[in-house]
Amino acid sequence: MPALVDDGAPGSLVLPDGRSIEFAIRYSTRARSARLRVGAREGLVVVVPAGLQRERVNLLVASKRDWIATKLDDIEAIRHLIPKVSPARPQAFDLPALAETWRVEYREMRRASVGAKTDQPGRIVVFGAISDVDACHAALRRWLARRAAEALPPWLERVAAQCGQQPAAVAIKNQRTRWGSCAASGRISLNCKLLFLPRELVRYVMVHELCHLVEPNHSHRFWAQVRRSEGTADHLHGQMRDAWKHVPPWAQRGSGTAL
Ligand SMILES: [Zn+2]
Repeated sequence: MPALVDDGAPGSLVLPDGRSIEFAIRYSTRARSARLRVGAREGLVVVVPAGLQRERVNLLVASKRDWIATKLDDIEAIRHLIPKVSPARPQAFDLPALAETWRVEYREMRRASVGAKTDQPGRIVVFGAISDVDACHAALRRWLARRAAEALPPWLERVAAQCGQQPAAVAIKNQRTRWGSCAASGRISLNCKLLFLPRELVRYVMVHELCHLVEPNHSHRFWAQVRRSEGTADHLHGQMRDAWKHVPPWAQRGSGTAL
């Protein structure tokens, strides 16, 4: 059980100058007495011994109003010096499927959009309006799709030959919930986020979709076919259940964004 518990509901306080602020209350099983802290990012946080009544907390905080107001003013005075926290732009990432590590450099350029390109082996440059973090992530997702389009189709060809199958076509997508799919036309779609998975899981997804060319269902016959092509299919299938944990947040497609 965690020592610090946040009960969710913030408290509120009116400062001597009339400002109204909210504060977080954390109940601690370790705290012997109440502590107040004021930070630039989290504002006022009150840590109190577990079980302390809400009215007692409010009285305590109210008795420290002057101190809190001074602290908040101090922080306001230097706020412009504190770097803004934004959702992290990745500085580097691994693509285990290809045994590759990529460093990412960001270059501010006077243009409205953001692009990403391979600068040299192992290094990507993201350029343009790079203060737009979402646009940086989208540019990296487009780069990821291009890298997947280079790497996955020839890989699928090799696995297909091993399985004695031949897909009609291959498409690279950035599906949100599927690693791959197989259309009735024989076209196999692969998710570019497969590049974040260990090699054996990528191969498993390929085998799985290739077997759908013969058995477009999840029948016993289908699974028998998968096991013939991949001896540890059951184990790998189990690992796919939480495979999304391998994908970094920036690569997850947000709602309404392309790729
Ligand atoms: Zn399937």
